[in-house]
Amino acid sequence: MCFNTMHFAAPQNIKYHITEKKMSNTDFISYSFIFILGLVIGSFLNVCIYRIPRDESIVFPPSRCPKCGRKLSMLENMPLFSYILQRGKCKGCQGSIAVRYPIVELLTGVSFVWLFSMLGPSAVFAKYSVMMCILLAVSFIDLEHKIIPDEIVVFSIGAGILLNIIARDVTLLSALIGFFSASGILLLMAIITKGAMGGGDIKLMAAMGIFIGNGPILLALFIGFMIGGLVSLILLIFKIKGRKDYIPFGPFLAAGVLISGLFFDEILIWYLM
Ligand SMILES: [Zn+2]
Repeated sequence: MCFNTMHFAAPQNIKYHITEKKMSNTDFISYSFIFILGLVIGSFLNVCIYRIPRDESIVFPPSRCPKCGRKLSMLENMPLFSYILQRGKCKGCQGSIAVRYPIVELLTGVSFVWLFSMLGPSAVFAKYSVMMCILLAVSFIDLEHKIIPDEIVVFSIGAGILLNIIARDVTLLSALIGFFSASGILLLMAIITKGAMGGGDIKLMAAMGIFIGNGPILLALFIGFMIGGLVSLILLIFKIKGRKDYIPFGPFLAAGVLISGLFFDEILIWYLM
């Protein structure tokens, strides 16, 4: 991975993150910390995923069981462990807790560790962790509600600008063009196909263009279409979805943004060689 502005870095530079040193005790402590941090933030993401599409506040009131309304105790708010301890059931009404909760928590924890192993303790790691949270929230909301909320788009634009200043991995010009490029293509497609592309997808790609810059956001769009097309084809072949069914595109774009943002240089070099 190469986070300088020169995207045509020499091939021998690109794999500097693959180090073969053994894990020391301090490494183990920092990785554990990052994992637990990811679980806790993942737990907060669950609150966002549930409440933002329902236009509820994400800070108040405290978490309740969505089935019986019972307020959750401190212990029950503990990510992942409470789900395992209670075997996926609410203590009050015995109603089953959606499996999405532990999945989102675990995904956040694992992806934080993955990002940390590549980027180390750096501003770029902080930036990509925030981006990962946004992409996870967007994906799960889009899967369930088939929308990408404006609140998340606005937050992403603000966070993207701020994190670019701190991480300095994307130039201002690249971020500015990135805001318009992929989103512009999607907008054009929406006009031509009369709405086959959602407005949320367009706004998401504008915000993510700030995060990863112009070149990577265009590649992200391409990757998103490739994965989305492939998955749609599989769903059609196995008759899980019909020809007329709507398939949310947000998760595919999110995957494209993540892959392209992290591995743009590697993909480009692999393609050119
Ligand atoms: Zn309950």
